[in-house]
Formats: sequence, C-alpha cells, structure tokens
Amino acid sequence: MWYAVVRNTQQTVTRALMAIAVIALAAVPVVAQEASTSPPPKTLIKNVSIFNGTSQSLVTGKDVVLVGNKIDKLIPAGSGGTQYDQVIDGKGGYLTPGLIDVHWHMGMGVNEREYFGDQAYVAIHSAKEAEQQLMRGVTTVRDAAGNVFGLKKAIDTGVTPGPRIYPSGALISQYSGHGDVRSGKPTVMAKEWGGPVGMGVSDGNMMLANGYDQVLAAARQQLFLGATQIKIAVTGGVSSFTDPLYVMEFTEEEIQAAVKAASDYGTYVMAHGHDFAGVIRALNNGVKSIEHGSVLNEEAVKLMAEKGAVFVESFEVLAQLKPLYTDPVRKAKLDNATEGSANVAKWAKKYGVLMGFGTDLLFSAEGRKNELKDLGLRKEFFSSPEIMIQATGNGGKIVALTGKRNPYGKLGVIEEGAMADVLIYSKSPLEDVSIVEDYDTNLKLIIKDGKVYKNTLQ
Ligand SMILES: [Zn+2]
Repeated sequence: MWYAVVRNTQQTVTRALMAIAVIALAAVPVVAQEASTSPPPKTLIKNVSIFNGTSQSLVTGKDVVLVGNKIDKLIPAGSGGTQYDQVIDGKGGYLTPGLIDVHWHMGMGVNEREYFGDQAYVAIHSAKEAEQQLMRGVTTVRDAAGNVFGLKKAIDTGVTPGPRIYPSGALISQYSGHGDVRSGKPTVMAKEWGGPVGMGVSDGNMMLANGYDQVLAAARQQLFLGATQIKIAVTGGVSSFTDPLYVMEFTEEEIQAAVKAASDYGTYVMAHGHDFAGVIRALNNGVKSIEHGSVLNEEAVKLMAEKGAVFVESFEVLAQLKPLYTDPVRKAKLDNATEGSANVAKWAKKYGVLMGFGTDLLFSAEGRKNELKDLGLRKEFFSSPEIMIQATGNGGKIVALTGKRNPYGKLGVIEEGAMADVLIYSKSPLEDVSIVEDYDTNLKLIIKDGKVYKNTLQ
C-alpha cells in the first residue's frame, strides 16, 4: 500500500515535471528566434597604423572591421562605405591587439596572510583588480595557479568586467615542494599521518600529490573543475621555505602523470621551474611551458628551443619582492634568482625560444598596478617590437597550446577571424614600448570581445 502511494506520488510529480518541461521547450524556440534576428553589430575603425601582433613593422592604409566579437576583415582605408553601427576614428593612433599576461594569479592581489584567509574577501578583491587590469589594456590572462573558476565565469557571463582567463586551477605540488605551505608548528604531519589539510588546499588554490596515481588524480580534478591547462612545480621556489631553488620536484613518472592527464584532454602542462636540473627533467617528460627559469644553464635553455617549449620569464616581480622577502631563507633565494635571470634572457634570445609576457606579480595590489613596467624592463634584452610581439602574438600562441581545450578563439593578433580585442595608443609602442606603461595618458581605446570599455578618442 505504502508502495502504491509512493508510486502514485512519483507519477504525479513526474507528470508535473513533464508539463513544466513541455512549457519550457515551447518557450525556447521563440527566444532563440528573437536572438538570431538581430545581427551582431558592425564596427569600422579608421585612421590608424596597425601593429598586427606578429610583424615588427606597422601596417598602414587599412581600416579594421569588427563584427560582433570577431575581427571580420582588414579593408583598404576609406573603402568601407556607411553600413556600420559604429565608426571609430583612431585619430592617427596605433592599433594593437589586446595585451596578454601569460603568468598572472588573478586571486593573489591581497597580501599573503589574507590569501589564505576568507575566500569571499579574496574573490571580491580579485574582481575589483580584474577590472583595473582590463583598463590597463590586458584583455587576456593565463592564470598560473589559484581557484579562479568562479571569477572566470563571472567575467565570461558579464557579471563583472575583466580579462578573459585561462585558468590552471590549483598548483599541483609534491610534499615539501613549492606548493606545500602547511600551517601550524614546523613538526606538523601530512594529512595521511593524521595532520590537517594544508593551507590553501581546501580553498582550491593548491593541491599536494605524491606518486603517479595521486598526480594523475589531482590533474584530472583540476580538469573536472575547468582548468584549461595544468600547472605543476618541478623545482624549488623563491616564496616557499622548505625547498631551495636547486631541488628537483616530482619524479619522471609524476611529471608524466600530469602530462598524460592534460594531453588526454587535448591540452598541456606548464611548470614552475627555476633551476636547470628540474627543468631539463620536465622538458624531457613532456612539459610545454617553463615558468621563471631564473637559474637555468645554457643547456636547459637550448633544450627548450629543441623541444619547442615556450618560456615565461618575469622581471618586475624580482624588484617588487626585494623589500618583502627580508627573512634570510627567501632573501638568499631571491638574490640568487635575480643574479641568474639576465643570462637566461640572453640565451633565450640566442636560441630563439618563444617567450611570452608574464609578470607573476603577487601579494600586493599596489605592486600589481605596475604590471606593465615589466615590458620596459625587457628593453635590456629585447627591442620594443620584440617585446610587443611577446605581449600579443606570442601570448596568443601560448594560450593556444590548450588545443581542443581552448574555450576561446584566436588571440593576440589583428587578422581576419581573430577575437575582437583591440587597443589604440596615441604613441607608437614599436618605437618605445614604455609608452604602454602610462595607459591613463596614452591608451585611448580598449575593446575586448567586441565591446568598448574605454574610448577617449572623441
Ligand atoms: Zn606564479
């Protein structure tokens, strides 16, 4: 009897749900038709010289046509006619692709203590910073570790403005590695031996894994959450206490586990690595993007070129950490990294390694406002056009390593079919890339995904 009652109730519920579903289905085509009848807006941008993201010289005599969130085509100047929803006069300025920071941590603008604290505060702070970053002309970020999936969703759905994000999710690290920041007394045990879950782990910012199976599971967990690439640590780090820079982190098998999980999803692994031994091991086991590399030797840099791996070296961060890392452990590591990084940049240039613009500024909202200073610091090693290519076209190639996993279209270039991320500067960044730093004055137009966020041309 009770069974019949339950079954009848279930049937009633099922029928009611079906009725709702029918109503919902009936409503869908009407909405879809309305959306499809209004064509995407057409924008003409005229009176500009174009830096296309890959060439060291400017393109002149062309206008740019945007349709919706894509670059539709480049046409001979003045040949566009009048059929546009919007015409932007560039006033003789310099049109470039949006900037791409390929090593940034959207959640790490708060100070270190707050980062491991209330995550709602961290999220609100990050959203505020994301808007500031977009207003600097950074339209895409590859997030190099941190739980930023919610922020990415909020930006993609228009809840809050910011750059589009390629998230790595949690940094995957071994015990005593770069991501092992256990709290409490120094004798604290790992969780397998009764200790607490480590700082940052339950917030989704770090994940500790040891052995092939655990690394495979950790990487798959990040893919489940929406990671577009996987981030692991393969050497000691400057900010961590238990691993000097020379330490090799993750065995061959553990690195292969991360690479296997990523490549099965059509994407790749990026690795935090300072010293040559760990980086050479990572390259030989399938890692495609090397981050930092401050104390690499020439052999490791050459191997990057041979393997077709990409390299992201950051400059401004070394200067910014100097006053913060005054304890003897981190001070020594930072001095070591600062000393080595100049040679590495020279070798990267010598062997033609593809370099991105990644700044890695963290734990200071004020410091992060100097993100674009990193461009000027590169002038010691690279020409202004080379640096602009790093910050646009090369960035586009780096985020495209996500392959089948790529949630967006072509980035970092001004060409037919690319995403409509467009900036206009009043001065030429190819003559001196440092003009990009003063974005308040020199950056006149910001378009991301076809939408205008700043226009002071008129
Ligand atoms: Zn980083």
